[in-house]
Amino acid sequence: MSRLSDHIRRDMVLVCRRLYARGFIVGTEGNVSVRVAPDRLWITPTGYHKGRLRPKDLLLIDLEGHVHFGQARPSSETPMHLALYHCRLDIGAVVHAHPPLATALTVARYRLEATLLPEAVVLLGEVPTVPYEMPTTAHFAQEIGAAMRHAQAALLENHGSVTVGATLQEAFNNLETVERLAQIFYLAKTLGHVHPLPPAAVEALQALRHA
Ligand SMILES: [Zn+2]
Repeated sequence: MSRLSDHIRRDMVLVCRRLYARGFIVGTEGNVSVRVAPDRLWITPTGYHKGRLRPKDLLLIDLEGHVHFGQARPSSETPMHLALYHCRLDIGAVVHAHPPLATALTVARYRLEATLLPEAVVLLGEVPTVPYEMPTTAHFAQEIGAAMRHAQAALLENHGSVTVGATLQEAFNNLETVERLAQIFYLAKTLGHVHPLPPAAVEALQALRHA
């Protein structure tokens, strides 16, 4: 294996530990992938505790999902990763987790509005919610790919979140921003009314996003 792949696998293990430590996943939940060539990506295995993952547990697969390196079986939610890489060449990493407050929002049928916080407008833009479907199916994967054509993050109803980025760190940052946004929404709602940023402020931030 190349030095680059060694480096990427070590980073993936660190991010998995961080996902667990931050409470974004428990048990065998969640999955992470990083693209290393147009049709090659490293992905986490199914059935492993992500807080205790080792670099050698990761799998190298192609965009059809065939395993090229590794002993375990790829995540059962691999189809959503593949759909995203197929749809968007700018995506270098995908993080799927079950952040508690953002997920609870979907259970309560609230949308996550980025317009509550400046950072969320700039980093995330719109955060679509994808209606619930069986997580492992190709159809669900296509729905996620379609919903995220221009999005850096999406919520999966009664399930969790998907965030993407040019790099793994970016995809992880986007997940943290999603959960922070959900926390602030929840706290504000507990305190009283929820006031989004004024439209002019949102527009100015959006201009920053496209700059
Ligand atoms: Zn899941």
